[in-house]
Amino acid sequence: MTFSKLSEYFEKLEATSSRLALIDILSELFKHCSNKEIEQVVYLTQGRIAPFFSSFEIGMADKTVAQAIALAYGVTKDEVLKLYQKKGDMGLVAEQLIDRHSGECSDSRISKKTDSGQAIMTVLSVFEIMTEIAKTSGEGTVEKRITLLCQLLQKADEKSAKFIVRIPLGNLRLGIGDPTILDGLAMAKLGNKSKRKLLEGAYNRTSDLGLIAKTLFEHGIGAVEHLKVAVGKPIRSELCERLPTPEKAIEKMGTVDVQYKYDGFRVQIHLDRRPTGLNAQNLVGQDEVKMFSRNLENMTHMFPELIEATRVQVKAKTAILDTEALAYNVESEEFLPFQETTKRRRKHGIEEMAKKLPLKAFVFDILYKNGESLIDNPLEERIKILKETIREDGVLIPSKNYTVSDPKKLGLLLEDAISKGLEGVVIKRLDSLYEAGGRNFNWVKLKRHSAGELQDTIDCVILGYISGKGKRTAFGAGALLVGVYDKKKDMFVSVSKIGTGLSDEEWREIKVKSEKLKVKSKPARVCSLIEPTQWVEPKIVIEVLADEITRSPIHTAGVSVSSTGEKESGYALRFPRLVSFRTSDRRAEDATTVEELIKMYQQQGKKYRVLA
Ligand code: ATP
Repeated sequence: MTFSKLSEYFEKLEATSSRLALIDILSELFKHCSNKEIEQVVYLTQGRIAPFFSSFEIGMADKTVAQAIALAYGVTKDEVLKLYQKKGDMGLVAEQLIDRHSGECSDSRISKKTDSGQAIMTVLSVFEIMTEIAKTSGEGTVEKRITLLCQLLQKADEKSAKFIVRIPLGNLRLGIGDPTILDGLAMAKLGNKSKRKLLEGAYNRTSDLGLIAKTLFEHGIGAVEHLKVAVGKPIRSELCERLPTPEKAIEKMGTVDVQYKYDGFRVQIHLDRRPTGLNAQNLVGQDEVKMFSRNLENMTHMFPELIEATRVQVKAKTAILDTEALAYNVESEEFLPFQETTKRRRKHGIEEMAKKLPLKAFVFDILYKNGESLIDNPLEERIKILKETIREDGVLIPSKNYTVSDPKKLGLLLEDAISKGLEGVVIKRLDSLYEAGGRNFNWVKLKRHSAGELQDTIDCVILGYISGKGKRTAFGAGALLVGVYDKKKDMFVSVSKIGTGLSDEEWREIKVKSEKLKVKSKPARVCSLIEPTQWVEPKIVIEVLADEITRSPIHTAGVSVSSTGEKESGYALRFPRLVSFRTSDRRAEDATTVEELIKMYQQQGKKYRVLA
């Protein structure tokens, strides 16, 4: 497939405002792919050249890309940047400037000519050059990258140029979620969505859409079903349901395993000591350990002390551990608040901060050991294996466990956790298997709450903003339109407007973050009756606290059509206020779901008591 053809599909995807149309277009696109290119097409559709969890990405800065455009089209960098200021999208800048140029390209991979004399840029050749850009390192990197990107742009047509520019900037602006790509693959290869669950299962185990697509195309759905957990590929995290009281929890779950609910970062640690594994180059201490966040981002470089501890403390050749990392003082048994731990999420000054604020990782599960997946073993067995696998007295600390069947005892453990400054406890069914990506009553969180507040915060996605009056005009927003995630439909539905709890500084931050996500019209995966002044791509996640969840005719979260065809009200937040930004550890699809919101609505009022 030519890159120009792929860009035509991208144009269609960008222009549509319907999710069903997105699936149709994707399905058409995938049907036109050969087995050899489907993997690359899937990554490119995600705006990437490798799976999301891979740290392998291009990551070029605005100014570097501007330089490549300037060079390719014979204009000055200042001209490019001026136009960028006006348009707010470097892709549109390239598209506009391209007609000034008709140059030659020296790269043999794209210099083969058609009869009409035009260069052929296949998807694979563009992918290869983009990979080369990403691999470039050492002295002269910026110049080499500019040259390569410039060569690509010189041979691109208008449409292609727009997307070629957006990919290295990490903002393809297609607004396609992973579930929609799975739908597109199912429709393209299986003709319907009846086996979509099998694709989703493979996604939950491997997190790798390119691998799933390639396997499906080359070997069929049976092979996809057999795709296994693999060290180096993050497993989608199992998540917690909510229950209001210890009594309700025991009533529903019976005898449970109780663990502290540590308030830090979820870190999935992968260890591979095989010479051919993660550490393929046999570099001691490098690549042997990888770490992934809850939203599948590679965060290995952030936590040097966890890398070292994993190498020293884990008694296995290969392993995957589920942990929560946070700042903890072993002597005083003091857990530091999340606001402290979160200082460790940074790109620079890592070693210095690691000394100032060392982390411990509380290991609460083991999902893989010595080549064997453990996700289909019951929790009780996994915990036993976990305890045998971790050497004591180090940075990795196996989580304490209590087996409890008495609500009173559970209440006391909850109180104990709260008195230690923790959020509460997580209780787990002893016989439960590890359900990758699942949220059900196998794992339940019990938290404390304050009067006049919901027991838990809600992670909302910013859908747009509504222009402000007075001093807020300076920040361009007076209120945010926010939504939650409708998992069944893979859509974002509105749940509230929020203007409280944000400092001037936070307004400014939101403005900067959303500036790059501005879109002209409602994105295809957004459903809202409220039209904000400015729509933004649903990407920024904020944590919101509210007093109550109420029914509302103006919001679309949970709107359903009754048997008589009447639309029932949606759900909304009463007195919402911002607690924090969660952009760094949440993708939009990790936000609170409609199902969760409805369960919270049903449970509110039945707030739990801490038993004496
Ligand atoms: P989400 O439920 O979407 O993960 P959240 O980040 O607000 O939202 P909670 O639902 O409140 O988290 O709690 C689940 C999270 O608690 C896990 O994702 C994990 O990061 C953390 N956690 C802390 N201790 C444990 C534990 N012992 N077992 C499992 N998870 C734990």
